[in-house]
Amino acid sequence: MAKYPSTQNFINGKFVDASTKKSLKVISPLDGNLLSELQLSSRKDLDVAVAAAKAAFPSWSKTPIKERVQVFFRYKTLLEKHIKELAELCSEENGKTYSESAAEIEKCIELTEFATSLPQLITGEVLEVSRGVECRTEHVPIGVVASIVPFNFPSMVPNWTIPNALALGNCMILKPSEKVPLSCAKIALLLQEAGLPDGVFNVVNGDVEIVEAICDHPDIEAVSFVGSTKVAKIVYQRATSNYKRCLALGGAKNHLLVLPDAIPTMTAMNVAASMSGCAGQRCMAASAMIGVGEVDHIIEKICDEARKIVPGENLGAVINKESQERIEKYITEAESQGAKILVDGRNTKVAGKENGTYVGPTVIDYVTPEMSVAKEEIFGPVISIIRTKTVDEALAIENNNPYGNAASVFTQNGGMARYIIDKASAGMIGVNVGVPVPREPFSFGGWNESKFGVGDITGKSSIEFWTKLKKSTTKWNAEAGVNWMS
Ligand code: NAD
Repeated sequence: MAKYPSTQNFINGKFVDASTKKSLKVISPLDGNLLSELQLSSRKDLDVAVAAAKAAFPSWSKTPIKERVQVFFRYKTLLEKHIKELAELCSEENGKTYSESAAEIEKCIELTEFATSLPQLITGEVLEVSRGVECRTEHVPIGVVASIVPFNFPSMVPNWTIPNALALGNCMILKPSEKVPLSCAKIALLLQEAGLPDGVFNVVNGDVEIVEAICDHPDIEAVSFVGSTKVAKIVYQRATSNYKRCLALGGAKNHLLVLPDAIPTMTAMNVAASMSGCAGQRCMAASAMIGVGEVDHIIEKICDEARKIVPGENLGAVINKESQERIEKYITEAESQGAKILVDGRNTKVAGKENGTYVGPTVIDYVTPEMSVAKEEIFGPVISIIRTKTVDEALAIENNNPYGNAASVFTQNGGMARYIIDKASAGMIGVNVGVPVPREPFSFGGWNESKFGVGDITGKSSIEFWTKLKKSTTKWNAEAGVNWMS
């Protein structure tokens, strides 16, 4: 029997059954236990949710922003109050460790804090452009918007979009990942408790059919998507061909350049943490390390650090059996092509959690740029080490990869770090930082095949995505002889 009741949609302030009788099992990657049955929605369910959001929009969009953000001050306090419960749920459905899950909720709090500062950031502009003629700009909400999210951050990625889009006056349909829908249901309840009016935030669960219906729906004005590049391309094309604005974030293959002057212990700890945090299921995870010149002493330390990472203790599970098998296949293929497996995470079992889906930390050396482990997103706790003689060779490998989410360099040479920042083809760059996620108010977003659309999804940049600009030009001629003060 499932631990939790079946997962329903949240529409117009109420949990309601989906209209189909179809469902999917929500399984915990930690131990293979059944958590819930997810009710799959039809286009009809989406229509009901969009109608509720559309009905809520006139009042919500006309509520002054200083009032709207009060909901998010309260929501932030509720996130703090429920952090343990939210982190446990996140860990159960996603498989990451409790401390990683708690860090994810901390990040939701930070994202919400940013949204509460939006009144300070969206003041428009006004200028007398000619005598008595004034031009003025205002950021206006768009209408009903949709957010489609992946499995790897059940709370954080939804909160990349929810506080900003809603504080800016829009109403939202959220489509959670069918693998981790439980956190989103809890988020809906907390937003309601924070005082969000019914219909402003709605959750419609489902799979491909609902994503396609969102892209086609005539009353949805904007679609944000976070997930794999394959699906980001499909969503971007379909949404924009229906004349919607769309921002679609895709997958990643992030390179860490390690130079011989890097501080060995700090570098090793960062590389190991970046590749294994959240079991490598992060779009910001280090996936390929390029060792420039003589870095054997650092690689040795990376292996020492990797061996300290224990599945089921400080390393969580990967999302499901399919992922586990895919990751192990990558390792086996690299080995058969001549790469050297220095630390091997295949065939990992955690005692007492035999049905959990774990892959241990894996360090692969002597990878060549043509191998699949060098080119493709693995999405597991695996680092592929490629060796080059020069920084330019390393940059050529990084530049040739179709993705462009993040890149990092480990060095003590500031000039070299600046050179690499300039030449790397990625949207987010780290210097002696393994996971270079920009913190609020800076924005999050990659380049190349890691993002389709203009602007970034968080921070100040997101204001442009979630609002449209109204420009007014006014000219007033005072009536001669009228003095309102008399
Ligand atoms: P995914 O692309 O499989 O799924 C994402 C969403 O799309 C889900 O809600 C899913 O239901 C839906 N979907 C899946 N297949 C679809 C299809 N054929 N047509 C329409 N919709 C479909 O991604 P995932 O496996 O849930 O998440 C992992 C991926 O997300 C990785 O590639 C990771 O790099 C990426 N990701 C990127 C970022 C970023 O900021 N760039 C952040 C987090 C995750």
